[in-house]
Amino acid sequence: MARVYNFSAGPSMLPEEVLKKAAAEMLDYEGSGQSVMEMSHRSKVYDSIIKGAEQLLRELMNIPDNYKVLFLQGGASTQFAAIPLNFMNKSKKADFVITGQWAKKAYQEANKYGECNVVASSADKTFSYIPKLDKSTFTKDADYFYICMNNTIYGTVYHELPDTGDVPLIADISSCFLSEPIDVSKFAMVYGGAQKNVAPAGLTICIIREDMLGNARDTTPTMLNYQVHADNDSLYNTPPCYTIYICKLVLEWLKDMGGLGVMKERNEKKAKLLYDFLDNSKMFRGTVVKEDRSLMNVPFVTDSEELNAKFIKEAAEAGFVNLKGHRTVGGMRASIYNAMPVEGVEKLVKFMEEFEKTNS
Ligand SMILES: *Cc1c(COP(=O)(O)O)cnc(C)c1O
Repeated sequence: MARVYNFSAGPSMLPEEVLKKAAAEMLDYEGSGQSVMEMSHRSKVYDSIIKGAEQLLRELMNIPDNYKVLFLQGGASTQFAAIPLNFMNKSKKADFVITGQWAKKAYQEANKYGECNVVASSADKTFSYIPKLDKSTFTKDADYFYICMNNTIYGTVYHELPDTGDVPLIADISSCFLSEPIDVSKFAMVYGGAQKNVAPAGLTICIIREDMLGNARDTTPTMLNYQVHADNDSLYNTPPCYTIYICKLVLEWLKDMGGLGVMKERNEKKAKLLYDFLDNSKMFRGTVVKEDRSLMNVPFVTDSEELNAKFIKEAAEAGFVNLKGHRTVGGMRASIYNAMPVEGVEKLVKFMEEFEKTNS
């Protein structure tokens, strides 16, 4: 069996240990005589899976007791509407920082429901940096302030959070979920699709401070009402059962490794290998300003479209797949999420060194 190193931005690699455990438990989960795929979501055995996943997530992320953890469907993109429909309920205003396509889509969706203010944008330089914020431009009575923490397509991340005072801060953390410790108490809500760093596609995790709940509009669809899901422990309807099970296995893997502090060190080591190479290469260079570089998504280019295409093709043949950059950016992007082993990045760097030698 030859497994490739998959640098896809999502869905992406899962830890091999997790895949092996899932395979071993496929036909008979813990003596139940069934696969987790076949179980009732109301069964006792399933209850221990979903409750166990929540408990592990709370432990790993150090989630305060006054936050709800919701396991939902619809992807991060569905939350772009659910967030205004649940929280844009007093002044009906919200502030946004546009750091890429996902922030922009969230802004455009929310703008259907209220008055959305763009406090800053990095569109002028293809989102290659996180804009400096001027607090005096923030909307004082905004219902919330919205950011996309790690910008998957462009490879930027907030190293410092905006100081929004009493205005609730909401962040899309899809592509940096569980990559390092974060202080959940600084946010009114963090959320993300699981398919980048946590599980297969199909699961969206929302972590919401309790005082934010209970203010949805009358017209908010039941399935988009966070209060409904919170009241029903994410079992208002059938949840993405199998994906939550894989999520639990990934959380166990993270805990066994030593938690998010250890994960962060490993991620920093991988990112440094790649960025150091890019900074010293005469052929390849990173596209993001140094101070805003993401640990998870590393976009890079050569000066020639032809060379980019040749590199992507030869890399794939050598077992380094999905290195093509997003269609709106071009070039290359290596997504090096939690499940990418250090060895995968070491081998990629070696491959890039050799490619540079042969082609210059
Ligand atoms: C992938 C991604 C999304 C979109 O997620 P879906 O689950 O496909 O809706 C949104 N935000 C960020 C930061 C992402 O990386």
